[in-house]
Amino acid sequence: MLNTISKGNAYDVAMENFDSAADVLGLDDSTREMIKYPERVLTVTVPVRMDDGHIHRFEGYRVQHSSVRGPSKGGIRYHPQVTLDEVKALATWMTWKCAVVNIPFGGGKGGVTCDPKHMSPGELERMTRRYTSAILPLIGPEQDIPAPDVYTNPQTMAWIMDTYSMTKGYPIPGVVTGKPISLGGSLGRNEATGRGVFYTVESACKHLNLPLKDARVVVQGFGNAGTVAAQLLHEAGAKVVAVSDSTGCVYNRDGLNIPELIHMKTLCGHVDGFPESEPMQPQELLALPCEILVPAALENTIHAENANLVRARIVAEAANGPLTPAADRILEGKGTFIIPDILCNAGGVTVSYFEWVQDEQHLFWEAQDIYSRLERVMKTAFRDVLKIHTERNVPMRIAANMLGIGRVAEAVQIRGIYP
Ligand code: NAD
Repeated sequence: MLNTISKGNAYDVAMENFDSAADVLGLDDSTREMIKYPERVLTVTVPVRMDDGHIHRFEGYRVQHSSVRGPSKGGIRYHPQVTLDEVKALATWMTWKCAVVNIPFGGGKGGVTCDPKHMSPGELERMTRRYTSAILPLIGPEQDIPAPDVYTNPQTMAWIMDTYSMTKGYPIPGVVTGKPISLGGSLGRNEATGRGVFYTVESACKHLNLPLKDARVVVQGFGNAGTVAAQLLHEAGAKVVAVSDSTGCVYNRDGLNIPELIHMKTLCGHVDGFPESEPMQPQELLALPCEILVPAALENTIHAENANLVRARIVAEAANGPLTPAADRILEGKGTFIIPDILCNAGGVTVSYFEWVQDEQHLFWEAQDIYSRLERVMKTAFRDVLKIHTERNVPMRIAANMLGIGRVAEAVQIRGIYP
């Protein structure tokens, strides 16, 4: 629910995280100058004819943070609170995230400041197509590949793919990932982020000798990432005791019936009023004693004022940037094991990479192939980050940033700079 959101600037957080990791890596100033800042930033006007006939002007953005290791890659967000700084932060994190899971992409991100919940399907389609035309010079399978993010979905990707393809005269599925299967989407993409969260939680539990069976789980944000993580944890025998979305929080100390709750959310669009649960306030949800807390909503939901309430053993960051640096320090001080976002939620971009490879090869894989490749990538990345965490005695977030930033730094040093 909204009153857990702090107004912190996500880009300041991204810059602070970069500096902390670069300092421990001992990165020289020249390399920092080359990799720290976005390569391209585009702001566009998106005029849309609304259903009542008037024209409304939306503002949209596309940021390419890095193309050092490959094309830029990152989602498109539709939300009233989208700002250029938020998009820059998300693009920056994408660069380090792609490098942590060692896939050949740099970071990108896009967004339109709008309230999709109060727009009709026709308005959303017209806005998406107009926004796509506006960012057209930047995107393409070899340049920059969008994907879904908050309040965008496979249908949005289908409209982007169609608008882009119409300008070329032939279908180009590789321009976006997270497409419907019938348009060249990949099996497993829709649930990839939550599945990746699950694999990293499994690895963390193993590392901490914490049984997943009967572990109490709290999920903040019950959308794509949150529902799938909850479902897989539930299937593994964990007890998901509380979840929230933008409409409310529901709690059952014996564990919520997650398949039923997902069914209700799909049908009604909210978790509020779920049978066999009691309502609770967002602050109470964060304060629940549990083994695993999964923030899966938006940035900065856990901050200086509420981090002290958190009693979880593991915080698995399904969302991007859910902890402010102040919250990080508080949780670190309490000994909470944090699975940082650029590791925890990297399953989405990993299967996006698989989708792009399949589109480029025109050869599609079985679901089981996708799951086993994803599991291998996520568990390898977890092991690599954990190694830095233990050997260098740094927090998991700094370890993940060191791995990602270190790989990008190495690539830029080898490439050199033109001219
Ligand atoms: P989504 O739109 O499917 O779901 C977002 C959910 O958060 C919704 O249920 C919404 O009701 C809820 N929410 C919004 N504000 C809230 C609040 N203040 N408190 C509690 N719940 C709130 O979005 P998603 O794709 O699941 O993305 C969620 C997070 O995961 C974002 O930070 C996104 O960047 C990140 N992420 C998503 C993907 C992906 O593939 N979808 C990949 C990597 C990271």
